[in-house]
Amino acid sequence: MIEDKSSQRTPLSQLGEFALIDHLTKDFTLNQNSSVLGVGDDAAVIKCIDENLVVSTDMLVEGVHFNLAYTPLKHLGYKAVVVNLSDIAAMNATPTQITVSVAVSNRFPVEALEELYAGIQTACNYYKVDLVGGDTTSSTSGLIISVTVIGFSNSENLVYRSGAKPNDLLVVTGDIGGAYMGLQVLERENEVFKVNPNNQPDLSMYTYIVERQLKPEARTDIVELLKKLEVKPTAMIDISDGLSSEIIHLCKRSKTGVDLFENKIPLDPQVISTCEEFNLDSTTIALSGGEDYELLMTIDQKDYDKIKGNPNLTVIGYMTEPSKGMHLVTRGDTKVELIAKGWQSF
Ligand code: ADP
Ligand code: MG
Repeated sequence: MIEDKSSQRTPLSQLGEFALIDHLTKDFTLNQNSSVLGVGDDAAVIKCIDENLVVSTDMLVEGVHFNLAYTPLKHLGYKAVVVNLSDIAAMNATPTQITVSVAVSNRFPVEALEELYAGIQTACNYYKVDLVGGDTTSSTSGLIISVTVIGFSNSENLVYRSGAKPNDLLVVTGDIGGAYMGLQVLERENEVFKVNPNNQPDLSMYTYIVERQLKPEARTDIVELLKKLEVKPTAMIDISDGLSSEIIHLCKRSKTGVDLFENKIPLDPQVISTCEEFNLDSTTIALSGGEDYELLMTIDQKDYDKIKGNPNLTVIGYMTEPSKGMHLVTRGDTKVELIAKGWQSF
């Protein structure tokens, strides 16, 4: 429904691989001091002075991770970068470079890739990361995008999933469940559209959650905020799957238990109202939804005064001895075992 049928369609074969790479990357400039050499040689060169290089990769597959019926390619390019930057933020590190690899079928014209790269460039500019390379190849049907991100951190600042201790506070950034509910709205409108293509969807009631789904942001700002507050989390992870599955990852890697308080989970009013409309329980959505790209961290109790009242950080529970297990404390004050029902690839 978002595709513009009147737009120009230049077949990929008209340019060929090398001209295409050149065409897509010519407007990207290098801004990081550590970017010595970018696109155009056999490999990029990144300067590393006495710091740790942090690397992460994510792959997005058409039909599995995105549906082009309601995902504009520009948003997809932006999101493909953001989901990677989020992983670097979750290490408490700063992203500096990306590489982008695409497998694309001749179903896509050059203009489609231009859109994709416009989104990638918007993300690069906003987050001040440099595109320094990638790969371009053909696929028999769908579109596949793989982004690798490189970041830096000195050893003192790096935060792993494994550092949580009993009594540490469990803290989440922003609010959660929005991306999943945005997806529910988009899926519903897409079904309506399939039946009646003249029906233009009215998404004005759902702007926040649709944006959470189509244009998520990476919380690189939190890395800066924590530095400013002089707080180093004891453990951290980004919320790509549901909250419960990420909490369980932290507990398992750190060998702790957890008490998570249902009434503390931050939810946007639009998430609550849309859950009511869809007859879904908002706690279940927060626990099992996904794609929010917020950060989940544990913080030593002694740092509580430093984070207290900060609108970006919500305390939702605390870590316990491993023998206590992993629990959700409900609004009715009963304890139920936390289980992972997040997004599963297989
Ligand atoms: P090679 O044959 O050595 O793999 P390529 O012809 O694939 O080299 O790539 C040439 C240059 O273009 C390299 O610097 C590579 O990193 C870059 N590049 C290739 N595809 C992309 C892409 N989709 N996005 C950004 N840079 C790319
Ligand atoms: Mg190549």
